[in-house]
Amino acid sequence: MTDDFDKTDLQTEDEAEDKKTSDPMKFCFLCRRSEEQAGKMIELPNNIHICSDCMQKSFDSMNQQMSTGKFNISDLMNMPGVSMIDLSSLRSAPAPKKEKKKKEKTQPVLDLKKIPAPHKIKATLDEYVIGQEYAKKVMSVAVYNHYKRVATDTMDEIDIEKSNMLMIGPTGCGKTYLVKTLAKLLDVPLAIADATSLTEAGYIGDDIESVVSKLLAAADNDVEKAEHGIIFIDEIDKIAKKKNTNQRDVSGEAVQQGMLKLLEGSEVEVPVGANSKNAMVPLTTVNTRNILFICGGAFPDLENIIKERLNKQASIGFYADLKDKYDNDPLLLEKVTVDDLRTFGMIPEFLGRLPVIFTLDGLTEEMLVKILREPKNAILKQYQKLLALDEVKLEFDDDALKAIAEKAMEKKTGARALRAILEQYMLDIMYEIPKDDSIGQVIITGAYIRGNGGPRILLRGQEVPMLECGS
Ligand code: ADP
Repeated sequence: MTDDFDKTDLQTEDEAEDKKTSDPMKFCFLCRRSEEQAGKMIELPNNIHICSDCMQKSFDSMNQQMSTGKFNISDLMNMPGVSMIDLSSLRSAPAPKKEKKKKEKTQPVLDLKKIPAPHKIKATLDEYVIGQEYAKKVMSVAVYNHYKRVATDTMDEIDIEKSNMLMIGPTGCGKTYLVKTLAKLLDVPLAIADATSLTEAGYIGDDIESVVSKLLAAADNDVEKAEHGIIFIDEIDKIAKKKNTNQRDVSGEAVQQGMLKLLEGSEVEVPVGANSKNAMVPLTTVNTRNILFICGGAFPDLENIIKERLNKQASIGFYADLKDKYDNDPLLLEKVTVDDLRTFGMIPEFLGRLPVIFTLDGLTEEMLVKILREPKNAILKQYQKLLALDEVKLEFDDDALKAIAEKAMEKKTGARALRAILEQYMLDIMYEIPKDDSIGQVIITGAYIRGNGGPRILLRGQEVPMLECGS
């Protein structure tokens, strides 16, 4: 079938070629020589032709001016159609476009065998991310299914929904970290954008398509790689529809509307090697059909919306319940439904394109202690490595870890506070230790963190064994 198709295709191209030769004589737009005199012409839009000599000259003078800093945009504009096309592709090979596209398609997209099974994805996530068991499981399955579909390219035939995700969880609980870890283990490019910076096209701010150009940049301008990447849009709750407003809603509902096509899959024209479209940068087309979109947000007040709904249900009829039943329910967020998110201000069409919705837990003190020492690249391990280079052993006693976690809990920014706190206490240590060669071990104590004592400093030869971090 495909062979036949190719042949007919070629025939039509041959015919086109024949037609071209019978076309009237072509003249170079710049030097006015005919095709007979100047050799084969390069075709530009609007039936304009340029001989290869003139094209080369233009490039040379442009390069020269660029290197001497005298580059003038009007010079470039003298060349017809230049702002609209990628010159480098014209110069090298005026190959028929159709052929190019076919070649791209025959390349293998993703190797199905290389996609790790959900349990393996989760096992790797476990090495880095503490807790969030449910989120890790949901993500592993969703990502596995997504890439399975991409690899077999069955998205069109069976019309299965994409596994775009919506993560709901308090700040600093690991949303971004999960996505970053996932992209790293799958070896796909990742772009992280902030929904608050996005505006409807034409307004000040990044237009929605800029997220795709970020992804293209993360994929080193490789379109095919970008088309299998992940786009993470943080703070998605900030583009909720505003209630009772008569003003034009630039950053809320309109942005949600604008994202619909992108989430579902559409062709987007993005600049190559720049983040804004302008006359000077070539454009390329990226199809978002196979790009996995993950949105995340803290959704403050969502708990109240859930509580209100549950209370309403509970107070009706036979199963009437106490009104304050859900007031201190730690698992309240897990009971979220699409309706609650709609009440929050997300539009139904938007939610419909994010079929995988799940919540993450707020971090507890015990989880923070684990985050300090257990993950593969735990913060404590990083400090230990730094001091080990000075041949000094660094230890934290259990009370110190507890004290750091307590301080972090007070800041209410999740695990994000941990590094800042440690940085503050480690500064003096990192400054003083290299001064004195005789120091062999430093033990950070709870008293030091709480401000009523100092760290234990032991000289070389007097070190005491302590439990290894992570054990
Ligand atoms: P957010 O949920 O606001 O996106 P992040 O994912 O950016 O939070 O978390 C900030 C930092 O805190 C991460 O870079 C990571 O080092 C650490 N962190 C947060 N949650 C966890 C977790 N569950 N396990 C391990 N580290 C975590």
